[in-house]
Amino acid sequence: MSPADLLDFLQSRGEKAFRARQIEQWLWQKGVTRFDDMENLPRGLRDLLREHFVTRPAAVGASREGDDGTTKLAVTLHDGQIVEMVLIPSGDRATACLSTQVGCKLRCDFCATGTIGFARDLEAAEIFDQVIIAKNRLGERGALLANIVLMGMGEPLLNLDNVLSAVQRVTSPDGLAISPYRVTLSTAGIPAGIRRLADEHVRFHLAISLHSAVNATRDRLMPVNKSYPLEALSGAIVYFVEKTGTRPTIEYLLLDGINDTPRQAEALARFCRDFPVKINVIEYNPVDGSPYRRSTPAARDRFVRFLESKNMVVNTRRSRGEEIDAACGQLANKSR
Ligand code: SF4
Repeated sequence: MSPADLLDFLQSRGEKAFRARQIEQWLWQKGVTRFDDMENLPRGLRDLLREHFVTRPAAVGASREGDDGTTKLAVTLHDGQIVEMVLIPSGDRATACLSTQVGCKLRCDFCATGTIGFARDLEAAEIFDQVIIAKNRLGERGALLANIVLMGMGEPLLNLDNVLSAVQRVTSPDGLAISPYRVTLSTAGIPAGIRRLADEHVRFHLAISLHSAVNATRDRLMPVNKSYPLEALSGAIVYFVEKTGTRPTIEYLLLDGINDTPRQAEALARFCRDFPVKINVIEYNPVDGSPYRRSTPAARDRFVRFLESKNMVVNTRRSRGEEIDAACGQLANKSR
């Protein structure tokens, strides 16, 4: 419910306007979803709210924690659908990886979520709830939620209205007041969505899951490339960089013999010539039944060295949580 609608309702019942702000603070700042726990509201108003509204907070189902503290949570929604989120600790801080859809339409070949199919978009509040769950879980361990990445199940740019509304709640001073610079949206590459982010002058970070800069290879890995080939994606990235003045990240999952060859490295360097980027080279978490394997250390090092020789900024990301099914979609799959 929008703040304006809540205000209208309260005023139509003779309530003072500031009550709307108090309710918003309970819901979006403190993550309190039981009306009876909203202590500064008069008893009569709490009863009125209970009579007219329900809250439908997401609940944590199965969870698994790996040796390195990476924790994967299956989150059950009000209609029984399950999505997953991952908490990735680093000292006393952590990154939360959140889902934006139940399943995914894009069916990337290396991804467990792609095999689930697509059920529905998450509502803004369901995306927001994952942040509350992350904050509470980390708070119990004395850790701080430092970063949020929209990189779990689903393609955020195909649920953009709800994603933007959730991020607004997360970053607003009236919400959780988390800096937008601590939020990263990761896309498989939907050019219209990237252009809309640019037009909206978003202040959060953009990451693009590229995984190959050769159309034929990317067609195979990510069928979305057949609709939006590299040329269209490149044009949208240039537009985004020009409008926002920020430097996106290119995510590149290294797959043995598929996209880790010298030819692929050269193609990636060429693709990135037109805009400033940094490259995250990621080790692959094998998925049950997947034909793909993790690149060898030698191939990975050769790939990274080539990019660095072209003066590109490259980070190598160690795979986290392999023993807890942390590859996208695996825990939700098993929870089903
Ligand atoms: S990698 Fe992301 S975009 Fe591709 S199928 Fe999995 S969830 Fe969807």
